[in-house]
Amino acid sequence: MSSPATIVGSSAEARPGRLVTAHGALRLPAFLPDATRGVVRTLAPNDLTAAGVEALMVNCLHLARAPGTQTIARAGGLHAFMGWRGPLAADSGGFQALSMAGARVTDRGLSVAGAGAARLHLTPERTVRRQLRLGADIAFCLDHCPRPAADYAAHRQSVRRTVLWAAACRTELARAGESGAAVPLLFAVVQGGPHRDLRAGCVEELLAIGFDGLGFGGWPIAGGRLDDMVHAVAELAPAEVPLHGLGIGSLGALREAAAAGYRLFDCVLPTRDARHGRLYADDGRSVSIRDERFARRREPAVDGCDCTACRAFPAAYLHHLFRIGDALGHRLASIHNLRVYSRAVGAAGVAV
Ligand SMILES: [Zn+2]
Repeated sequence: MSSPATIVGSSAEARPGRLVTAHGALRLPAFLPDATRGVVRTLAPNDLTAAGVEALMVNCLHLARAPGTQTIARAGGLHAFMGWRGPLAADSGGFQALSMAGARVTDRGLSVAGAGAARLHLTPERTVRRQLRLGADIAFCLDHCPRPAADYAAHRQSVRRTVLWAAACRTELARAGESGAAVPLLFAVVQGGPHRDLRAGCVEELLAIGFDGLGFGGWPIAGGRLDDMVHAVAELAPAEVPLHGLGIGSLGALREAAAAGYRLFDCVLPTRDARHGRLYADDGRSVSIRDERFARRREPAVDGCDCTACRAFPAAYLHHLFRIGDALGHRLASIHNLRVYSRAVGAAGVAV
């Protein structure tokens, strides 16, 4: 493995206990809320910090579309732009690009409709240069994720492209480092769909190139449960390699993946559910704050929660905010759900 991924501390399984980045050491396991367009919707940085959030995941494709990575670079980089002092991870956006209408893919990369008439090109090199302009602490290589119904040949081709692009990302980052740029940690993404042999080959080829961590690519949930391939990749990757469960979002799936060895997670689920009034409890169950039973409740919606929202307001107030559709309700519910996730990864850290 290439430095500078410094691994300090370990669980009984010798899994990484923290990840040293240019903006501080990230304690693992860690849940990174998705700040896709440079914001965790409705939340300011101090809301996130108060909820126990240490790092965020942004999306390079979405930020390239608006406001543009040049604009962010001119503002002093993404940390200065969005007022976030902790580690920032930047996904390539390859996964999102392939779900967009009119997306095209070749061995050189992907292209999607950009602002105006111009197409936006996602090549490995351009993706790395955009991640450098953002000032990301953790950069994800461009990868090729085929559709769920893809056949074996399509998955084999996606592995070939994913490895090809990952190697190009590694080369581009090395070139930037040689010219004096501060370079982020680089994570590659493991593809291969439901085929263990393809997953194994992808892991082997990526490890041979050398990355600071690996992400699980594809669809991690199958039939309402964690896909077998999530476990397979954890078995195939050496214990010292930090594993990121891209898109693993429910508390149950997160705990299962943490027990399997995954150490970083990101998902829109807790904040999206919050904006719909769905508040989580530590046991994974949830309640709807819109429910009439909360209309006169003086206690918090979730007993024993130490989040800033639950400590300051009765459930009846959140219920009222959702009834009148005020943005403060979305904000308080998001703070609550992220606090539940912070406690969950802390608990996972103790338990595994
Ligand atoms: Zn709470």
